Parts: sequence; C-alpha cells; structure tokens
Amino acid sequence: MRVTFDHSQAEAGNIWTFFFKPAKPIQYTAGQYIELTIDHDQPDDRGDHRWFTLSSSPNESLLSITTKFAAKDGSSFKTALKQLVSGTEVVMSDPMGDFVLPKLVQTPLIFVAGGIGITPFHSIFSWLAETHETRPIRFIYGVNNEDEIIFQTTMAKAGVHATIVVSQPTDAWGGERGKITAELVLGLQPPTDDSLIYISGPEAMVMSLAKDLRKSGIERRQIVSDEFTGYSAL
Ligand SMILES: Cc1cc2nc3c(=O)[nH]c(=O)nc-3n(C[C@H](O)[C@H](O)[C@H](O)COP(=O)(O)OP(=O)(O)OC[C@H]3O[C@@H](n4cnc5c(N)ncnc54)[C@H](O)[C@@H]3O)c2cc1C
Repeated sequence: MRVTFDHSQAEAGNIWTFFFKPAKPIQYTAGQYIELTIDHDQPDDRGDHRWFTLSSSPNESLLSITTKFAAKDGSSFKTALKQLVSGTEVVMSDPMGDFVLPKLVQTPLIFVAGGIGITPFHSIFSWLAETHETRPIRFIYGVNNEDEIIFQTTMAKAGVHATIVVSQPTDAWGGERGKITAELVLGLQPPTDDSLIYISGPEAMVMSLAKDLRKSGIERRQIVSDEFTGYSAL
C-alpha cells in the first residue's frame, strides 16, 4: 500500500519517529512490523527498503516507526527517510509478525528491550493505556546512556513497572548499571512456568540473551523474540 509521510518528531539525540497517513485505515496488532520502501537516488548496497516495527498503537490514525540514526556510515535509506517532505508517498507492506500480546491476559510477562528494540513495546504500552487493559508486565530496558532513554511517558501511562539499565552511565545515574544479562533478568523477575519472556533489539543482543536464558533453564516456548537485523551494535 502507499502511505503519505506526515511529519517526524525527535525523541532523543539521534532517535526519531516518522508518522505516515494510510489512504484508508489499516488493521494491525500492537507489536507487528512492516516493510518500508523509499525510492531514492543512488541507493547504496543496503538497498531501498527496511523492516520497521510500528511504534504507533493500532488505535491511532497515523502509523509510526521509530528509528536510530548512525553517527557515521549511515545508509542512503536512512538519509532518504530523514529527508522526506510532508505529502511524499512511500510504499509500506501490510503489517506482519507475532511479537504480540498473548491471548491469556493473566500470563506473566517479562519484556526486555535493547535500545531501539523498545519500538514494539511502545506500541503495546500505548494500546494498553488507551484500552485500559492491564497485564502483569515487568519491563527491562537497556540503553547505552541516559540520553537514549525514550518513551518514559508511555511506560508511566500504561502503569508498567520498568527497570532501566544503562551500560555507560554518567555519575549522576542512580539506576541499574551494566548490560542486560540473563542473571539480571532472572534476578529482577524470577519467571514462573507460565511466564513469557519477550526480547526485542539488535539481532546479536537478542540471540545472545535468548541463548543464555535457555542455558539458565528457561524453556524455548517461554521466549518470544524480535531480532532487528542491520544494527552492528546497540
Ligand atoms: C522485524 C524487524 C523489525 C525492525 N524494527 C526496527 C525498528 O523498529 N526500528 C529500527 O530502527 N530498526 C528496526 N529494524 C532494523 C531495520 O530494518 C534496519 O536494519 C536498521 O534500522 C539499520 O538501518 P540501516 O541499514 O539503514 O543502517 P543505519 O541505521 O544507517 O546504520 C546502522 C549501523 O550499521 C552500520 N553499518 C555500516 N555499514 C553497514 C553495512 N554495509 N551493512 C550493515 N550495517 C552497516 C552502521 O555503521 C551503523 O552502526 C527491524 C528489523 C527487523 C528485521
């Protein structure tokens, strides 16, 4: 489908949200992703399309994606995205994916986001806040530094218990420090047999955490993962 770029919004430092207007309302479930194609001059060898999780809630009329811009060696795709002007049409696929809330509302949920991997959780938290649905969620969010923390208002609106873990904090940071490890996750929120652990973020981070959780005894059926390919690091 063709969607029209509406506007963008800075979230923090080099993280931006881009809003698109669909020609007619589309249905999706919070946590799903789309493929976005931006036709642009001289695309580099990374090409003219990318996958992005929708950071918007299905209740909103505009669709949004939220992304991080590289300090150096950014792609031609991201440059074209940043240069979009209001009213430009781009191509978006139908939403897809199963990184969505389980049907059973009482399922204990542990959500883990690595950096920009917060996007599906933002969609889910927004949807929960709008629909006044409550779920037993423990949210663990890892960032490199305090400047990269986004979407705190939405976490608060959804009443989510969040722990933010900063790997390179300033001296002023009073919260958790370091990287998100299996020990940290299991220590903060010991899972029960029916808990599900959702992990979203750069591919390497998601795969290594999932592997370590499995080594710590968490069953495969309890891990739901969303790997963002294309990021070399957090
Ligand atoms: C299911 C799914 C959902 C996703 N959801 C999101 C989302 O919500 N938000 C989001 O931001 N991304 C998301 N992604 C990742 C997204 O599709 C891009 O891969 C990512 O944003 C990187 O974009 P880019 O390739 O334009 O690189 P940039 O953002 O421009 O650069 C990313 C990093 O790659 C390095 N790099 C340099 N050269 C190369 C190269 N040749 N190949 C690869 N990397 C290189 C850069 O130095 C930089 O550190 C998702 C991916 C998947 C599969």
